[in-house]
Amino acid sequence: MGVPIFHHSKREKGLAMIRTKEDYINSLKKLNHVVYYKGKPVKDITTHPAFIPHINSAAKTYELALLPEYEDLMTAISQLTGRKINRFTHIHQNRDDLIKKVQMLRLISHETGSCYQRCVGFDAMNALYSTTFEIDEKHGTPYHGRLKKFIEYIQENNFMVVGSMTDPKGDRSKSPSQQADPDLFTHVVKETEEGIVIRGAKAHQTGAVNSHEMLIMPTQTLRPEDKDYAIACAVPVNAPGVTMIFGRQTNEERKFEGGIDTGNPEFGLVGGEALVILDDVFVPWERVFMCGQYEFAGALVERFASLHRQNYGGCKGGLADVLVGASGLAADYMGTSQASHVRDKLAEMTHLAETIYSGSVACSALGHKMKAGNWEPDTLLANTTKYNVTRNVYEVARLAHDLAGGIIATMPFEDDLKNPDTKKYVEKYLKGVADVSTEDRIRLLRLIENMTGGTALVESMHGAGSPQAQKVMYMRAGNLEQKKKLAKKLARISEKG
Ligand code: SF4
Ligand code: FE
Repeated sequence: MGVPIFHHSKREKGLAMIRTKEDYINSLKKLNHVVYYKGKPVKDITTHPAFIPHINSAAKTYELALLPEYEDLMTAISQLTGRKINRFTHIHQNRDDLIKKVQMLRLISHETGSCYQRCVGFDAMNALYSTTFEIDEKHGTPYHGRLKKFIEYIQENNFMVVGSMTDPKGDRSKSPSQQADPDLFTHVVKETEEGIVIRGAKAHQTGAVNSHEMLIMPTQTLRPEDKDYAIACAVPVNAPGVTMIFGRQTNEERKFEGGIDTGNPEFGLVGGEALVILDDVFVPWERVFMCGQYEFAGALVERFASLHRQNYGGCKGGLADVLVGASGLAADYMGTSQASHVRDKLAEMTHLAETIYSGSVACSALGHKMKAGNWEPDTLLANTTKYNVTRNVYEVARLAHDLAGGIIATMPFEDDLKNPDTKKYVEKYLKGVADVSTEDRIRLLRLIENMTGGTALVESMHGAGSPQAQKVMYMRAGNLEQKKKLAKKLARISEKG
């Protein structure tokens, strides 16, 4: 059982603010949290090959913030303290902050070719910022002030937060309180003077194993009978009762080889998700940001979803850029780059990438100020961005497969390139143009395989909410009745018609 080392003080005692990659890794070593991988507990995730690429990827959010050329994108000034902070801990203060967020994500995607996970907690803090203010306004509760203290604590220590929204949900036709097992949605099981005890689980938790804190939120709109499920709070990943079970990814075993066959040896493959169990976890009141105000659950979910869907044209647009480059190189290495159909496909891929990126920029540019003073993206456009991602990224992958050729599915192992008996044949017969080594060609094709494989594509479909969730938002926020009026007016149909 992990011992909680994080308390809700301004700066963690004995732990200076995390600045470098090394600081970040050392902070993870101290967590002593409960993580399972392939049926076994893992003592130190920072030395385990299953986790190292994901940690490297998240570490980029720290590393890039130290480079002067990226200071403007990667850092911000805290409105709480006036101090310079990592942008991943910032509360958006204007449209410019929203746009810089998207630009920052595209940049980090270029550097990692993967998911760097830290956006989820970033979005959770922002969504809770506006929602807690409005809960307090209606109920006179102290949530917003508590949340501000928590955010200051995160900023001062430069911690990584996982945004924990998705409950397992059990029978989808039933509400949380109607489930045969009441724990299929996270809920409060006990309230005391000191705090609350929560039970349940959070699924598909991106970056959970290498974060410091979890921000727990409800997963859907709630009714009065689901009051016990209207819970938002912060839980350290090493709190007693928290257990993380890491998920399996496509080509998972290749992480243990760490070589060419991995495709992206340093940063791996998308975020690294875990099923997080909350087995009677105690949360002190100072870390509780919603408890029973069920009527705000829908707004919180909607805001968090918009903030995360806003990201996808930045992060997946950046990954698509890498795939455009990789596909162009694959054509160079095969001698097909001058063929008109190849150039047309590369142009099409670029169009698809820029389309999703422009959605992210647009929903940021048309963002709005909330009552709490923070800024959030335009809901409809953020949803449109994510919905386009569920299509465009698959199409980018399809074109990358088309350009790279069937070889990405049939290449021999790296070991065959090492064994002298087979090396001579692999080198000779997998050769493309004369001046590019076969090994470089294989490296590139493995990268394309890695970035277009099962887990990576499914992330584009279901990450930040499945496409149907965006369709629901279209019908809710798309103002169909107003659009009917437009049609009636032009067709000269009376209002009653
Ligand atoms: Fe960030 Fe993209 Fe990963 Fe979501 S999928 S956490 S937006 S990098
Ligand atoms: Fe995601």
